[in-house]
Amino acid sequence: MKTSKYFMPTLREVSSDAETISHQLMLRAGLIRKQAAGIYTYLPLGFKVLKKIENIVREEMERSGAVEILASALQNAELWQESHRWYEYGAEMFRLQDRHGRDFCLGPTHEEIFTDLIRNNISSYRQLPLNLFQIQTKYRDEKRPRFGVIRSREFIMKDAYSFDVDEEGLNKSYEEMYKAYRRIFDRCNLKYQVVEADTGNIGGSSSHEFMVISEVGEDSLIFCDSCGYSANVEKAQAVDREFESQTIKKKEKVHTPNIKTIDDLAQFLSIESSKILKAVFYTDEKSRTFMCLLPGDREVNEIKLKKLLGIKEINLASEEEIYRVTKCKPGFSGPIGIDKEVFIVADNEVKTMTNFVVGANEEDYHIINVNLNEFNVNIYGDIKNAEEGDSCIKCGNKLSSSKGIEVGHIFKLGTKYSKLLKATYLDKNGKEQPMVMGCYGIGITRTLAAIIEQNNDEDGICWPKHLAPFEVAVIPVNIKDEEQADLAQKIYEDLKNNNIDVLLDDRDERVGVKFKDIDLIGIPLKIVVGKKISEGQVELKFRIGKETKLVNIEDIIEEVK
Ligand code: ATP
Ligand code: MG
Ligand code: MG
Ligand code: MG
Repeated sequence: MKTSKYFMPTLREVSSDAETISHQLMLRAGLIRKQAAGIYTYLPLGFKVLKKIENIVREEMERSGAVEILASALQNAELWQESHRWYEYGAEMFRLQDRHGRDFCLGPTHEEIFTDLIRNNISSYRQLPLNLFQIQTKYRDEKRPRFGVIRSREFIMKDAYSFDVDEEGLNKSYEEMYKAYRRIFDRCNLKYQVVEADTGNIGGSSSHEFMVISEVGEDSLIFCDSCGYSANVEKAQAVDREFESQTIKKKEKVHTPNIKTIDDLAQFLSIESSKILKAVFYTDEKSRTFMCLLPGDREVNEIKLKKLLGIKEINLASEEEIYRVTKCKPGFSGPIGIDKEVFIVADNEVKTMTNFVVGANEEDYHIINVNLNEFNVNIYGDIKNAEEGDSCIKCGNKLSSSKGIEVGHIFKLGTKYSKLLKATYLDKNGKEQPMVMGCYGIGITRTLAAIIEQNNDEDGICWPKHLAPFEVAVIPVNIKDEEQADLAQKIYEDLKNNNIDVLLDDRDERVGVKFKDIDLIGIPLKIVVGKKISEGQVELKFRIGKETKLVNIEDIIEEVK
């Protein structure tokens, strides 16, 4: 490409509403132009880099086994009504009507569309699992579009949706996406952190965000350098030390009583032995295992307990199991056996928990209706929203915080959409089952801005070679000098013939102006064709590190490759 024929309008100044470096540089370097608030046109340089990011994403999605499709941005309201999100999504959704008065929206996301596609075309377990993705334009009427394409109202997203026969399948699909996302953001040269996230209005049970570390990020992250725990602050939790110390102070003198028979227990609890439905609990002399029932959602309790105790695996019993063992009414989320202490987690409200089952981690080793105040428990500490300096729930060390730009987000949806939209398959036994889904998003345009946010200096953008809009710029110092102009043209042709993406700056401008523009745009290497050509040499100037060196003209291709 030659600059004389290209369209790369650069700017010296930008308006003051461009608050972030990436927004300023994308305007100044001629990557984007604003059309209206949160709506942008991608100019050739911006569009070229966008395609490179898209290709990285596409390659890694395909490597993971996902299959690309393209759905429409315009979506029928009926599908959104089926999932109830038509009523829940709120003002961020661009809604419109066709000439017949039928409702539509410009898709902010595509769960409904993909679920509809699959329910109409997949019917057997033999056709699953399946992971479909697209790279497509999304619309969200953001309350506060800002930072250029970081928070825009029209943006390009890669969104993928996985369909599995069961939870185990979903876990595998999710894991594949997690790994693919790591490969993608590594290839984008980003410094990022993966954090546990809230599932928001998408729904589902488990979710991770990929956060580019940046001062201008709108999300706050909490993380622990020693154990690797990290979470979005909306979700981050820490041990509430204040609570712990109070409780422990109150209870510190109490020791576990030596209860070996039902009568011991009855006496201890001040109840009649006959009221103890299932008792006997001691498994061995050294370790006593208690169990407790935790009100609330079983999966949430599992996650919280794992964090609180810093252990990898906890198997909470199912409601049926609890009933079988304890004859205790279902409705609780399950017992957990922990040596010596009972750990309690219940949305910051320990006092409301009175009905406990205690006993050993074995069938028939349980008692019910244990009163916490009577029974000997150490409350380890409650869980609260984490702040910098709090103790990490996993390892107890101090938490740090930083700001992050959310570039990717993966969710385990479970059966939320497949149940609402009746996306079912027939299992091995011919029984109808809801598909188990996951969804996975990457903001392609936001990623572009995030890369610039992390790769710039006082002169402009510093693209890594594989993302740069051009790998090399050939710059004749004086275009009116025929010898320089001819040689620059020849080098340009040679590079092109060697499949190197090169820009020839053939403008009739002062060389200083050209350098400034090429540096602003961020081209990694300049080949300067000047007076040295009389000695058979040109100068190479590297954008990053500002290194320069003279090379012989015949060695250029070798040097550049
Ligand atoms: P945010 O928290 O920044 O509003 P989100 O959580 O609403 O983002 P998701 O629904 O998780 O976004 O969408 C998947 C990805 O799409 C995000 O991780 C982000 O990279 C991108 N994205 C979301 N909203 C925008 C936007 N307004 N402009 C550009 N990219 C966006
Ligand atoms: Mg949002
Ligand atoms: Mg978010
Ligand atoms: Mg998100």
